[in-house]
Amino acid sequence: MRAFTHRTLPATIRFGAGARHELAGLLDERNLQRALVLTTPEQAGLGRQIGASIGARGAGYFDGARMHTPVDVTERAMRVAGDLQADCLVSVGGGSTTGLGKAISVRSGLPNIVIPTTYAGSEVTPILGETEHARKTTRRADAILPGLVIYDPELTYSLPAGLSLTSGINALAHAAEALYAPDCTPIIRLMAMDAMTAMMRALPALRTNLADAEARSAALYAAWLCGTCLGATTMGLHHKICHVLGGTFDLPHAPTHCVMLPHVLAYNRDAAPEAYADMARALGAERPELAIHGLVTRHGGPVSLAALGMTPDGIATVIEQLQASPYANPAPLDAGRLRIMLDNALAGRAPEAGGMA
Ligand code: NAD
Repeated sequence: MRAFTHRTLPATIRFGAGARHELAGLLDERNLQRALVLTTPEQAGLGRQIGASIGARGAGYFDGARMHTPVDVTERAMRVAGDLQADCLVSVGGGSTTGLGKAISVRSGLPNIVIPTTYAGSEVTPILGETEHARKTTRRADAILPGLVIYDPELTYSLPAGLSLTSGINALAHAAEALYAPDCTPIIRLMAMDAMTAMMRALPALRTNLADAEARSAALYAAWLCGTCLGATTMGLHHKICHVLGGTFDLPHAPTHCVMLPHVLAYNRDAAPEAYADMARALGAERPELAIHGLVTRHGGPVSLAALGMTPDGIATVIEQLQASPYANPAPLDAGRLRIMLDNALAGRAPEAGGMA
């Protein structure tokens, strides 16, 4: 067995259908009396419901969370928190809202309680990506990690079919890249494999019934594990590509993950045989990349970068940016292979031998 260092990050996870109703008691246990509830504009109604459930412990609302955590939004929310004399944050939503809660918390020291409603996994990572002057920067610090996460699968019933799929594949990507990460540990490996199994079983069930209680629980459980894998390891080519495509070309976060994951797994296959075998076992499929691509295709999900707004003339820039910053990845970054892979992804072709070693 390889030598390893495993760190367990300090956070409390409460998981269960209806767990959101325990928020008032959990605030009391922590002696928190003035919560600022954060949401996106689209989820302002849900924020009001959560706020109403905690009665006088709610200090007010900020419903301006936006994708990529713009610093000007954080500054506005911090002024609201100051005016209301908030003593904690309750972030209700997906990765965008969690990001806002993290950004305020790391600047102010206010405890951040997260109630996730997507499968992004940000709530269990010590990572924060922020944008200012059209530049996205990412940092990692223990103080960014939310101290309490309340997973209530009932809050994910409203996640539309498209977002359920792309968010689920986004989560799978964290687990898949953790398996070949240089700092993967035996515990992370177990989490990653169980998460992949649970998510791949849950997604087809959600296709026919968005309110399937068992499938929603399984998918959110998987998302927790996937997020934990992301927070504990160093991600590789897949996350880097998605970062470039999102940051430089403004492609949407979860759909971009959805398109790219099968292609990157094919790219890394021969360079990471053990991780690939683990994925195959977890998914019950000889070719994990084809299993994932097939699932997305059957669900009518995104398989082409072009359909997300990418143009062929941008591919050279992506390759340049990938090669400019060295990072951990099992297979070397070969411009020719990257070109084949990105052309396949652009056109919506299945990952194929041309993209492999
Ligand atoms: P999101 O938070 O941007 O949400 C997308 C949309 O779906 C929003 O309008 C939101 O209000 C809505 N929504 C969320 N949950 C819903 C529900 N249950 N029902 C109906 N609508 C719902 O999307 P996301 O994919 O969760 O997060 C993406 C962001 O998170 C990106 O900015 C990404 O960089 C970041 N992220 C960060 C980390 C990290 O560790 N720092 C990890 C993963 C993602």
